[in-house]
Amino acid sequence: MTDNASAAYEAFRDELLAQGLLISMGVDGLYGRSGAFEHVVERLNEAIAAVGDPDRPEIMRFPPGIGRLQLEKSGYVRNFPNLAGTVASFAGSDHDHAVLLHTLSKGESWTNTQQLTEVALTPAACYGVYPAIASRGRLGTDGALIDVYTWCFRHEPSIDPARMQMFRQREHVRIGTHGQVSAFRALWLDRARGLVDALGLPAAIEVANDPFFGRVGKLLAASQREGNLKFELLVPIVAGGPRTACVSFNDHQDVFGRAWAIETETGETAHTACVGFGVERLTLALFRHHGFALESWPGSVRHVLGL
Ligand code: ZN
Repeated sequence: MTDNASAAYEAFRDELLAQGLLISMGVDGLYGRSGAFEHVVERLNEAIAAVGDPDRPEIMRFPPGIGRLQLEKSGYVRNFPNLAGTVASFAGSDHDHAVLLHTLSKGESWTNTQQLTEVALTPAACYGVYPAIASRGRLGTDGALIDVYTWCFRHEPSIDPARMQMFRQREHVRIGTHGQVSAFRALWLDRARGLVDALGLPAAIEVANDPFFGRVGKLLAASQREGNLKFELLVPIVAGGPRTACVSFNDHQDVFGRAWAIETETGETAHTACVGFGVERLTLALFRHHGFALESWPGSVRHVLGL
């Protein structure tokens, strides 16, 4: 991050806090949201639903946690160990509790009294979908189409207000044949661009890669780009900073199909794809480009959002 970008992030974050749209929680990337912020989040979600509802997706809603074994099985721990979050808790005896109280009273670190639970934090909204679909057995002719909306966690503390550690993703997930999945992604590339244009935001769609960890990760990222497997819709949010990915379009090929043994009607390994809207990022983009007072946003944007 350049000094200029860093100063710009800090200035924008200070402005959002001063306006009361975000509420400081004392940790970079962890914020409360104001009523006005949430109002836009809700309206934005309704606008996304209006685009996707005609396809009659199955609705699934999950808590912000998934099974730790599910996180492992999905390959997330292998590919993004630095971003993953797990939940730990105390599981000791009365004696251990006494030791803990003593440690706390001395102001010393108590975290070695914690043990991992079976719960991990959800890294992306679609991760709960694959095991749920797999548990139903072989897909029908039409495959599966799911609308999912979940709080996600990624351990990447940042002063960039658009890079939160806890945020929400609204996703549509397609599971089926290679052809069904490709058609889905092409459709949503058009739809998302149309929606973001209608919201009056300057956007460009570009090839992208996931932040795979380490040396092996560099190779995975390169082959993901080469195969055009990930696109991002980028919007400038912070002046002087890099553009922010507000929507992502992911073709996972048969990665999740293999991980969860999901089969198409004919017994082939299913392909999957998802389109994910970062609702906080889009909300921040709206405030950045149209100002902090909702009543002065352009009429066309207010109309799309039903404000
Ligand atoms: Zn996804």
